[in-house]
Amino acid sequence: MKKDNIPLFFATLQAANPTPETELEYATPFELLAAVLLSAQATDVGVNKATRKLFPVANTPQAILRLGVEGLEEYIKTIGLYRSKAKHLIETCRMLVELHGGEVPRTRAELEALPGVGRKTANVVLNVAFGEATIAVDTHIFRVGNRTGLAPGKTPLEVELKLEKRVPFEFRLHAHHWLILHGRYICVARTPKCWECAVAPYCDYKPKTPRPKSA
Ligand code: SF4
Repeated sequence: MKKDNIPLFFATLQAANPTPETELEYATPFELLAAVLLSAQATDVGVNKATRKLFPVANTPQAILRLGVEGLEEYIKTIGLYRSKAKHLIETCRMLVELHGGEVPRTRAELEALPGVGRKTANVVLNVAFGEATIAVDTHIFRVGNRTGLAPGKTPLEVELKLEKRVPFEFRLHAHHWLILHGRYICVARTPKCWECAVAPYCDYKPKTPRPKSA
């Protein structure tokens, strides 16, 4: 993607959705951290279904610790990989209580030291809960970054670093959500919906998918 097209690409996504939000439901930084931790290889819809029952009962590290691994599993067993996620979340809660006074820490290093929290989760928490201009590269952003030529890279980290370099600062805070939503609904994995894509004029992908006869 030509450098000059990048501001136009983001301005177009911004015009359609000025203040995009995560589709995960949360009310506090801790709820967000827990929801993101549970969301690996699962859909936001599936996580929301579970947390709607879990959070009214336990939405602090202390309360989740009181549930214990088995008690927590009861609430999240509809989510993939729930056993290891329950273990990680309980261990994370223990560290939050012992090292951070029950609060979610605000630095990348402290977040990444929590069990089950990798770079992507830390980036989501820093961006969504604390308003930092980080860009967490998930499967959608990885695909959109490569396919459009916005930020080609062989690994999520390569794409993330390229996005940091190429996304103009004024679009950085919301870039994560614009790209995820674009990838989830328009620039979808199997056949991108180029015929209804507002940013098609700025995207390198060729040939563009034509409008199907049934659409
Ligand atoms: S034109 Fe097609 S490939 Fe390019 S961003 Fe839009 S949907 Fe994706």
